Amino acid sequence: MHKQMDNMNNILIDFQGYSLSQKFLIKELSIYFTHTDSVSTYFFKSEAPFQSLSLKEKKVVWYCEKYYHKIRYNFGEASQSTLCDVLKTCIDVNTVVYTKGASKVKILSELLPGFAKIFNIEEYGCTKLKLKIYNEETNCRASFHKNCLHCSHQNAMIFGRFLKELLENE
Ligand SMILES: [Zn+2]
Repeated sequence: MHKQMDNMNNILIDFQGYSLSQKFLIKELSIYFTHTDSVSTYFFKSEAPFQSLSLKEKKVVWYCEKYYHKIRYNFGEASQSTLCDVLKTCIDVNTVVYTKGASKVKILSELLPGFAKIFNIEEYGCTKLKLKIYNEETNCRASFHKNCLHCSHQNAMIFGRFLKELLENE
């Protein structure tokens, strides 16, 4: 692990959304804090009306709504413009950000240019398909995520605990 492993500002970010033609639209964003062993989850609205999407994008949305993360295109609480603010309130110069997978590293790096170094926990051995833990503690507040394998809240808790253990045993 790298040099900042022993400070208190290690967070793990996971998210779900739609891969549209111009960008990845984040719908659910979850942040795990190692120092409190807790996850904060936010749901974001979609700005562009569904009808304005291309047919290809609509197909991506339909697939994700039905078979993947089950988050409806029109579901959401906060506006997209607050997404970066949410991230920045959790991140300062001492924060080390982790996520899982190269594509998520890329998306977060683009959201936070020059703001934080982002590490891929797959490089620390978290590559196996996670074991899902269904209990009160890890359940997402979104009812449609009750038995869904693609929930960022659950992922953040599971990957975050992997990270916490890794940092503690280093
Ligand atoms: Zn969820």
